[in-house]
Amino acid sequence: DQTTSDPKVCIVGGGPAGFYTAQHLVKVNVQVDIYERLPVPFGLVRFGVAPDHPEVKNVINTFTQTAQHARCSFHGNVRVGKDVTVEELQEAYHAVVLSYGAEGNRTMGVPGEDLAGVYSAKDFVGWYNGLPRNRELRPDLSCETAVILGQGNVALDVARMLLSPVDILKKTDITQHALDALAESSVRRVLIVGRRGPLQVACTIKELREMVNLPGTRPEMEASEFEGIAETLKSLARPRKRLTELLLKAAIETPGEEELEKRNRAERAWGFRFLRRPLEVLPSTDLIRAAGIRLAVNRLEGDGEGVRAVATGEVEDVECGLVISSIGYKSLPIDPAVPFDTRKAIIPNTMGRVQQTAGLYCSGWVKRGPTGVIATTMNDSFDTARTLLQDIGKGTLDVSTVKPGSQGVSALLEKRGVKPVSFSDWEKIDSEETRRGETRGKPREKMLDVGEMLQVARA
Ligand code: FAD
Repeated sequence: DQTTSDPKVCIVGGGPAGFYTAQHLVKVNVQVDIYERLPVPFGLVRFGVAPDHPEVKNVINTFTQTAQHARCSFHGNVRVGKDVTVEELQEAYHAVVLSYGAEGNRTMGVPGEDLAGVYSAKDFVGWYNGLPRNRELRPDLSCETAVILGQGNVALDVARMLLSPVDILKKTDITQHALDALAESSVRRVLIVGRRGPLQVACTIKELREMVNLPGTRPEMEASEFEGIAETLKSLARPRKRLTELLLKAAIETPGEEELEKRNRAERAWGFRFLRRPLEVLPSTDLIRAAGIRLAVNRLEGDGEGVRAVATGEVEDVECGLVISSIGYKSLPIDPAVPFDTRKAIIPNTMGRVQQTAGLYCSGWVKRGPTGVIATTMNDSFDTARTLLQDIGKGTLDVSTVKPGSQGVSALLEKRGVKPVSFSDWEKIDSEETRRGETRGKPREKMLDVGEMLQVARA
């Protein structure tokens, strides 16, 4: 029997890393099963990528082709580490690839972080993108000024969501509850704070350009923070140079007539604040809510890649009712059987081989840390798949014994009362979401409740 003698590999996590690893493995005679915690696939493509970036989500078409490949199966609604252990997966498969992303987040570690009105970007993004665990977040948008801590692409996604005209958002797959809340929002001003200077901002030019071009908004920057920056342009590498030119244009250049008119009409403002580190979220008089943020003023030491932010001792308070920390996602250990580097918050690995554990591999954010776009994740997942195939070729990964694969795991799950969701089950959820979206002129209206997803999947 061809199928039983093929190598069997399972992948933990149905995000980009999982699907790209699978895509490479099914090209040869490997049987691949993807186990995903949620009933719905695609990880951060569904729950992270901003609703107004539909073109980024086209990768879903490629993932769908992989899922429909004869040698690939998707098993949603299975939480590895709880419903089934990694050791049990190792029993059932020749190899296990861990691609479960980064579901935790880095905290600021400052007083006041737990006040009402303070959110992590991860939860805020999860809220507008319909992540079931964030559906009850109900962020308070009744204040005028919001402060976002961090200046990467996620920070700019959040700023854009807070400031975009609702007429633009209502044509996206943003969840209806978020759209309703944003329509009522009083937020008029968003400050995007970073501890280093304009030459170190971590966003990409696409995201910055979207801010610059956002209808109904004007930039509000501090010209003094850009002193000396124009003079450095010549020495910058091309991508950084273009980014900095755009930043300077928004920050200090005299706008042309059309831009001036846009700015004069704008009711909302956004701006970067550089060289600032959060010290404390300041409470309202009743001590319940955030009313401001205290920032330490930094200066830069060193230059080039080695530049460091050092506190000057000066402190600044900014009034704001909403604080969103966007200082990074973080991977968490899912099973005591898997080595985990708690300092770097990744699974320690050499080219995707989990250290000290034969038959275990990793890819994506849990392999290299929570940075990089989908294309980066694609490349590193292909690398892991190549490593795994090399190990089969060299015989260091033993595939000579017959393994039960998903049959073995299904038996365990059934005993535990866990009912997996197949890819065709997901397609039922998908078409119901699309149908609900159509009635509102949106590409989809996401279901927010796992129970409802399961009901539709099994109908
Ligand atoms: P994830 O996408 O997080 O996938 C991990 C999967 O594992 C999830 O589906 C999760 O449910 C599942 N899982 C977790 N724990 C378990 C478990 N115990 N058992 C089973 N399954 C589990 N990139 C771009 O190119 N363009 C963009 O516009 C863009 N926007 C982004 C916006 C945000 C807010 C964020 C956070 C990222 C964005 N990215 C973007 C980056 C991109 O999303 C990542 O590079 C990519 O998703 C990482 O893939 P991954 O598979 O490692 O992780």
